[in-house]
Amino acid sequence: MIPVYDRRKLYLDDKDAIDAAVARVLASGRYDWGDEVPAFEAELAAWLGAGHFVATGSGTAALKAALRALRIGPGDEVITVANTDMANSTAIHSVGATVVWVDIDPLTRCMDPGACASAITPRTAAILPVDLYGHPCDIRALRRLADRHGLTLIEDACLALGAEIEGQLVGRLADITCFSFSSGKHLGAMGNAGGCATEDAGLAQRLRLVSGDGQDRARHRLQPRPLDLRHEEESHNDRMDEIQAAVLRARLPSLHRTLAQRRAQAARYSDALAGLVQIPAEQPGMRHAWRNYVIETEDREALARHLAAQGIQCNALYNPPMHLQPVYARLGVTRGRLPGTEASADRLLGLPVGPHLGMAEIETVIAAIRQWNGAGGRKASA
Ligand SMILES: *Cc1c(COP(=O)(O)O)cnc(C)c1O
Repeated sequence: MIPVYDRRKLYLDDKDAIDAAVARVLASGRYDWGDEVPAFEAELAAWLGAGHFVATGSGTAALKAALRALRIGPGDEVITVANTDMANSTAIHSVGATVVWVDIDPLTRCMDPGACASAITPRTAAILPVDLYGHPCDIRALRRLADRHGLTLIEDACLALGAEIEGQLVGRLADITCFSFSSGKHLGAMGNAGGCATEDAGLAQRLRLVSGDGQDRARHRLQPRPLDLRHEEESHNDRMDEIQAAVLRARLPSLHRTLAQRRAQAARYSDALAGLVQIPAEQPGMRHAWRNYVIETEDREALARHLAAQGIQCNALYNPPMHLQPVYARLGVTRGRLPGTEASADRLLGLPVGPHLGMAEIETVIAAIRQWNGAGGRKASA
């Protein structure tokens, strides 16, 4: 069996450090408003080279906090993509703003800056691109566009921790960059966790406020505690908890190693599969973080069945895209409106990749795809 994820194996790989971290929090009696979250924030900011990092309870919470911190709300439009997690659309709706989906660049499968430019209206408040599968979006073009129109830029890097543009880690070019540490992401908690990177101290302060019941965290940590509660803004409890922060701190030292494993596996796939299927592109000047290795092929159902018969699991993120999900039929964005997004969704197939696998397993997947091609499986048109 070659699975897409194996969270138990990843736990066992770092078991001693994770067990010690959890035990430390349990014994401390401080499960909330403790020292682990601020320590994790400082360590992750340093890892990213970012000015500030604010921990949240999930990637979804990070997106919501970013929109709230930037005061985006009713009457505002936010331009995003449809080939992504539901969180992007729900976060936008949760602050009362309107989702505007635009099409993707078929090579990177990230937001097409030209399509974004065409969708800007007087009501547009922000642009929210996604670094899909770990490949950076064209954040520099989007930054220029946002600056020209006075818009804010929120980057969804939930799949792209460790991705790079011109030698710089993703996380510093948008006003706020959002990350997820849910258990299947590059840096996984034992449950849900996320956070926001920003270079702006004022925004970092607002992010803490809007993800923490509108309370000033520094005030909350005073000893002895002030006897009055002070809520400065109506907002949600979207904070990270101490156990998750401790687990993430235990795992952070392994992140460079696991990124290198992902890159070695992806390089081997691309070497072996070029010409057999459409392999994912890595644009010049950009470094993919390979959260997912997603090929495209005409007959993905047959290929997935062929691989499943050999114990190889695949997935299809994100299919169907958000505009074609039943819940969003009410928005009336019908099939045909986002042709690039739809073509990709119809053809994509995610192969197993990640630190739970060894190179021998990657070779097994490659052999199975070669066998399928040799047996007359259709070749990708591209
Ligand atoms: C995982 C993910 C999210 C949501 O993160 P959660 O931690 O699951 O809430 C948002 N966007 C993208 C692209 C993701 O991959």
